[in-house]
Amino acid sequence: MSPADPLAELVAALQRLPGIGARSALRLAHHVLKTPREEVDALASAMIAVKDRVTYCSTCGNITDVDPCVYCTSPDRDARLICVVEQPENVGAVEKTRGFRGRYHVLMGAIAPLSGIGPDDLRIKPLLGRVADGTVQEVILATNPTVEGEATALYLAKLLKPLGVRVSRIAMGIPVGSDIDYTDEFTMSKAMEGRREM
Ligand SMILES: [Zn+2]
Repeated sequence: MSPADPLAELVAALQRLPGIGARSALRLAHHVLKTPREEVDALASAMIAVKDRVTYCSTCGNITDVDPCVYCTSPDRDARLICVVEQPENVGAVEKTRGFRGRYHVLMGAIAPLSGIGPDDLRIKPLLGRVADGTVQEVILATNPTVEGEATALYLAKLLKPLGVRVSRIAMGIPVGSDIDYTDEFTMSKAMEGRREM
């Protein structure tokens, strides 16, 4: 590939994106070629703007345009409560419930030995640091209800409990609108464990 071949360069760059194979990259590159100049400008500027203006919060790991983020600095949010999630996008899912007024901590993944992701690859040390300062009273583990998410929650609970904080796990179970008959064993046992008094 010579630098004089911008199309080949674009194909190569697109192919480095997650989930984009050689054929998709070629198709996208030809799409860009056919697209009006102003639309391509808008796409390129949007990509640059993300790199220039959006970052990760140095405290909680959430995506933000100010560091620390609004969740970490807002006086309306309870600093005694931290909700731990795997990915920045999970923060939005918890926020949607409007029921949580504490702060967040994003791990940037879950422990997955088969994919070579160990505790040191996640933002676990910063979490322990935040808890160790004495303000935090409860850590809610809202990692995904997957094998990796469960393993991560158990691992964190073991590290956090000796620090003298309450550690809780979100209740998981049968999705609303589904039938108990079609619920797998894992989900059903989680639903039973997460039961609350009525
Ligand atoms: Zn933050």
